[in-house]
Amino acid sequence: MRAAAALLRQVFAAEHADDAAATLNRLLKDRTGPLRLTSHGGSTPWHPHLDHDDDAPWDEWFLASSCMALTVLVWDRQCPPGRICASPGCQNVFITQGSGPERRFCSRRCATRERVAAHRRSRSAEQSSEVT
Ligand SMILES: [Zn+2]
Repeated sequence: MRAAAALLRQVFAAEHADDAAATLNRLLKDRTGPLRLTSHGGSTPWHPHLDHDDDAPWDEWFLASSCMALTVLVWDRQCPPGRICASPGCQNVFITQGSGPERRFCSRRCATRERVAAHRRSRSAEQSSEVT
């Protein structure tokens, strides 16, 4: 799972649609099987699979299914599907949604922590310039 997450992380690190597409194309070529529908022998509703085997291990299923979802997002939006959180201590990835101002943090918690840290830095810079 960890290895699969590290591979997917490269897609979230892409700055432009071209980079995201190139990274996804590499993963689709090297790490996934053919796109197909399966019902697992009639035991589930029909659904798409992109892993090498309908009963592949979880990490392979996770990587293949994530590639499929991210591919659809790049196709739909023509931009990278997400980002890596700008908070240095966090580094979570997140899916960007809709239009509006570009999101830099994974959560309100990270955004607030970084805003407070920036405020403290500017305050201490002011104070040290007052002393000298
Ligand atoms: Zn974060």
